Order: sequence, then C-alpha cells, then structure tokens
Amino acid sequence: MDKACGEGLMPNAVARLAQMGVVPPAWGTHPFRGIRYIDATSGRRVCAEADFSQGPGLGVRRLALSEALRARAHAMGVELWERTEATGFSADGSGVTVRTSSGTAHGQWLIAADGLHSQVRKWAGLKATVGPARRLGIRQHFTVQPWADHVEVWWSDRAEAYVTPVGPNRVGVAFLWRGRDQRGDMETFLKYFPELTGRLGPPESTIRGAGPFDVQVAGQQAGRVLLVGDAAGYVDALTGEGIALGLEQAEAAVALCLRNTPEAWSREWTALTRRHRLFTRLLLGVAARPYLRRMVIRGLAAVPVAFQLGLQVGSGGQRALPMAR
Ligand SMILES: Cc1cc2nc3c(=O)[nH]c(=O)nc-3n(C[C@H](O)[C@H](O)[C@H](O)COP(=O)(O)OP(=O)(O)OC[C@H]3O[C@@H](n4cnc5c(N)ncnc54)[C@H](O)[C@@H]3O)c2cc1C
Repeated sequence: MDKACGEGLMPNAVARLAQMGVVPPAWGTHPFRGIRYIDATSGRRVCAEADFSQGPGLGVRRLALSEALRARAHAMGVELWERTEATGFSADGSGVTVRTSSGTAHGQWLIAADGLHSQVRKWAGLKATVGPARRLGIRQHFTVQPWADHVEVWWSDRAEAYVTPVGPNRVGVAFLWRGRDQRGDMETFLKYFPELTGRLGPPESTIRGAGPFDVQVAGQQAGRVLLVGDAAGYVDALTGEGIALGLEQAEAAVALCLRNTPEAWSREWTALTRRHRLFTRLLLGVAARPYLRRMVIRGLAAVPVAFQLGLQVGSGGQRALPMAR
C-alpha cells in the first residue's frame, strides 16, 4: 500500500535491507550521496551539503519497497495475509489470538507495527500523547529527472520541503510543518518555494498526508503485545529515519520474544531510540528558530566536516548490524 513518506533511506537502512536480502526494483529507486540544506529566506541563498561517510542512501518509492519486502517474505515461506484488517485481539497464558477480516490468527506474541495511530496500542491499553506543535506531513511525486545526487532539504519559516530522487525519472517532494500554527496544502507549500517548484515536472501521484507526529507512548509492551515502528512512539520525520528505526526495532523485538523476555522491550526500545529522539528534538529546536537555523546552515556550509559528522550521528553512526544470529 502507498504511504505518506519522504522515501529517503539512510545508509544504515540500506545496509539492513541488503542484509535481509530485500532488493527494491530499479523502477522505484535512486541512490543519493548525502544531504543538502538550502535556505533562501533571508534574501541570500545559503546552501550546505555533506556526503554520508557510511556509503550512499537510497531514495525508494514506498510501493517499490513493499513489493521487495513482499517478494522476500514469500521467498522465505512467510505466510502473508494481504488486504486484511486486524479488528481486535485477546491474550491468555498460552498466547495471543488476533481477530481479522480474514479470520483469526494465533501466536505466542503479537508484534504490532500498525503506525502512528496504532489500534493495537489502544486495545493493549498503552496510552499515547501528542506534543503541542502537532507537526504534519504531506508528499507528492513529480515526473522529472532527478537533478541532484543528494536529498535536498529546503527551509522556510513556514515549512520544510524534502526532495528525494525515487526513480530514474521521478522525485518525491514532502512538506513538514507545525499544524498548530497553520493549515496546509500542497499548492500553498509549493508557492513558498518558487525556485524548487520551477524545477518540478507534472505531478504523478496522489497527495498523501500523515501526522501529527511527536507521539509519546507510555510503554512499548503490555503482556504478550510489543509495539514497533511508529506505533511504539515517534518524534518527527525531519531526520528521515522512520524506516531504519522500524527495521531495527522489529529485529530487536523478535530477538526478545525468541529469548522469552518480552518484558524487557520498553527498556530496550528506550535505549535503542535514545540517540534518534535527542537528535531529532535538537534539530526541531533549530528548525523552529529562523535566525538560529540560518546561522547553523551558514556554519555547516563553512565547515562541511561538521555537517558530515552531524550526518554520521544523525543517521546512526557506524553501528554494527547484528543480523546474523
Ligand atoms: C511526510 C513524511 C515524510 C517522511 N520521510 C521519511 C523518510 O524520508 N525516510 C524514512 O525512513 N521515514 C520517513 N518518514 C517516516 C516513515 O514513513 C515512518 O516512520 C514509517 O513508515 C513507519 O513505519 P511503520 O511500519 O511503523 O508504520 P506505517 O508505515 O505507518 O505502516 C503501518 C501499516 O499498518 C497498517 N495498519 C494500521 N492499522 C491496521 C489494522 N487495524 N489492520 C491491518 N493493518 C493496519 C497500515 O495500513 C500501514 O500499512 C516520513 C513520514 C512522513 C509522514
């Protein structure tokens, strides 16, 4: 299924997918070398860019990623119930029974990755609160040959635009903004960035939106239920790490279930996501202060190595991928 997403995979997510044997098809991918920040709000264009030190990132159309995940799951003999809605679950000492539109499924554990507005989270009684800024996101694709081998982040005082190459002749444009301060639509946001808009070809996908972000969850595990991905809590999309986090969490949660220690999940989730949560909040603080933001981008332009270090910290550093167990 298609989703609202900026569709940029950071190098650690690219490496993790490769280790999993997931190869997205060429029609929906385009590599990128790093990140470029562009701020033209003060009348003077400021641009800073840095390359990843861990290898390239990958722009990937979510439809292409789903296709690749599905193919790999089939090849591994995983039973998939497609076009199926979960409608509730019950749990006892022997396991969990999930009710769905295609029948019931029984297992020892339920690992739920049902997104920001997780139903499983509600059914499990895990409370979620949303931060005051109520940041939102929308995205659309445009037919045009990617002009950059970086993901471009265009800054303005009202919204940020994330431009990701996601195919040989396609770029995705995602806007993020504070929903508390303004309503927003694609047309309005495109007008904030005339230089960017001038480069885009015709739209080729329907507009999709998501949010509000900054969902904090009071615990990621209840009994036999473990939450992963956005369902477990999510700060913001501005670091482009949601997919990497989801993959990492899924692997860690499965490992705990195999060890029969799911009660450690909330603690492990907190440790696993600490760097991301701190870094994202730091960036949000900078993004919300136009003067500081311009100073930081100027600083990064003047000292590219600082930008590169920041990217390394922000995209998970050189952490090993402990897949082979
Ligand atoms: C505008 C925007 C830009 C972003 N940019 C990036 C980026 O560049 N890079 C990046 O890595 N991340 C990005 N993200 C974040 C990323 O999209 C999410 O973090 C990621 O999709 C989370 O994956 P998930 O599997 O946890 O949840 P989701 O991708 O939301 O998947 C949840 C799934 O559960 C299904 N579901 C929900 N309820 C039920 C039910 N009851 N029964 C059956 N199925 C159900 C939904 O249909 C959905 O398919 C962006 C997000 C937004 C909104």
